[in-house]
Amino acid sequence: MARVYNFSAGPSMLPEEVLRRAAAEMLDYEGTGQSVMEMSHRSKEYEGIIRGAESLLRELMNIPENYKVLFLQGGASTQFAAIPLNLMNGSGKADYVITGQWANKAYKEACKYGDAHVVASSKDKTFSYIPKLNPADFTPDADYFYICMNNTIYGTVYHELPDTGNVPLVADISSCFLSEPLDVTKFGLLYGGAQKNVAPAGLTIVIVREDLLGKARDITPTMLDFKVHADNGSMYNTPPCYTIYICKLVLEWIKSIGGLEAMKERNVKKAKVLYDFLDESKMFHGTVVPEDRSLMNVPFVTDSDELNAKFIKEATAAGFINLKGHRTVGGMRASIYNAMPIEGVEKLVAFMKKFEAENQ
Ligand SMILES: *Cc1c(COP(=O)(O)O)cnc(C)c1O
Repeated sequence: MARVYNFSAGPSMLPEEVLRRAAAEMLDYEGTGQSVMEMSHRSKEYEGIIRGAESLLRELMNIPENYKVLFLQGGASTQFAAIPLNLMNGSGKADYVITGQWANKAYKEACKYGDAHVVASSKDKTFSYIPKLNPADFTPDADYFYICMNNTIYGTVYHELPDTGNVPLVADISSCFLSEPLDVTKFGLLYGGAQKNVAPAGLTIVIVREDLLGKARDITPTMLDFKVHADNGSMYNTPPCYTIYICKLVLEWIKSIGGLEAMKERNVKKAKVLYDFLDESKMFHGTVVPEDRSLMNVPFVTDSDELNAKFIKEATAAGFINLKGHRTVGGMRASIYNAMPIEGVEKLVAFMKKFEAENQ
């Protein structure tokens, strides 16, 4: 059976090596005579899986000792509430930069719990850039400063982090998780849904500095209290066991190719193939200002809706699937996460060149 090249924004491709390994271990995980799906989360075998995943994540991301790693459920969207409930409890204020739909949803949720303030927004140009930030606009006594690091729908990324001084920087890294090295010490909290770059859907990873724990409001549901999960090693209740197991296999795969430096090198090279073509094509154009382009999500358009639709239809038939852009941007979007091989992008570009020549 031929596998397609899946450009979905999420859930998205997983490395083929990982899928093969999971298949091989499906009925009998390491001689236990059972699948990881069937295993008690309190068994010593499962303990090895979850702690193994944590230690690999710590190693790959160079996570310092004073940060906790939490394996949670509820998707990134649940964190839109969990973050203010846990952190917005000093001055009750927080700053948000609105760089797209996900940042905006997080902001809206925070408004339910306190005084959330919009520092800047790029809504005026359909979020096609990262706004320039002026620290004079920041709230000096904010409990945290929130950004969405990579904007999945619009294809922008922060190449430079805001300098928030003593105010903890909180970032949604759902769509750039493990795509390149990241200095964890610059953040109070990092989090992301796993289904873009780390694992199948069902797992949300939170990396939080210890001094930010234990400040949750009284009304915080137990299941949203970071400290509860930290104190219980993410085993307060049943964790998303199988997804964490796949996450561990993905982390092993990343380590086997040389870690995050090597991952970045691959991702830069891969994205360049597509961006270089978009820059020279007369038919296809990228929608993001070049200085804020994401390595992971690449939106592009032609000048005609009919041509966009024709391209998506023919690309799908040729085995390049899920290229339709988000409705707010239109056109196309190629999500080229870690697991997308460079051949997938090279073949897509060859297909785009052919389409352009045939549709002059
Ligand atoms: C996909 C995505 C989300 C939403 O994730 P869920 O797990 O579906 O809640 C949030 N933020 C970003 C940046 C995303 O890409």
